[in-house]
Amino acid sequence: MNKDKKVYKEAKYGKKSLLVFSSVLFAISVGVIAFGISLVVHGCKSDISSQIAFNISFGVMLILLALASGSISLVMLITALGMINTNQGSVKDGNRAMGTINIVKCAKCGTELSENAQYCTNCGQNVAGIVQCECGEGNNIDAHFCSKCGKELKK
Ligand SMILES: [Zn+2]
Ligand SMILES: [Zn+2]
Repeated sequence: MNKDKKVYKEAKYGKKSLLVFSSVLFAISVGVIAFGISLVVHGCKSDISSQIAFNISFGVMLILLALASGSISLVMLITALGMINTNQGSVKDGNRAMGTINIVKCAKCGTELSENAQYCTNCGQNVAGIVQCECGEGNNIDAHFCSKCGKELKK
């Protein structure tokens, strides 16, 4: 479950940086489009024909470039926003993994334990349904002898 938490954190970090990066790129694109338009408008007003040609062609080129980067940044922005929705699901999953949702109750004393608990923290009752032998073999709670080494199981 620690691994899940780490993956979630990385996803959250990735989402944030993508969101910031795409918004910055989008803002730059909008600025460049405005600059390109002003260049074209300015070029049209100019009296020198070579300046008109330069301004218009440079302005149009800037606008086209900015449109391309702007649409890329929009796609990234939408992707990042989509990742936020996915992460909301991960928060719930994270809580579940941390044991705040999935809990088991000790059959003997009723203490609430995380679902992967082996023994009750209050009374020592085996809640996993498995008895670990000294040899390391896990046996069913009903077993009297180890299925691997034959040793009598202490409960
Ligand atoms: Zn108990
Ligand atoms: Zn054994």
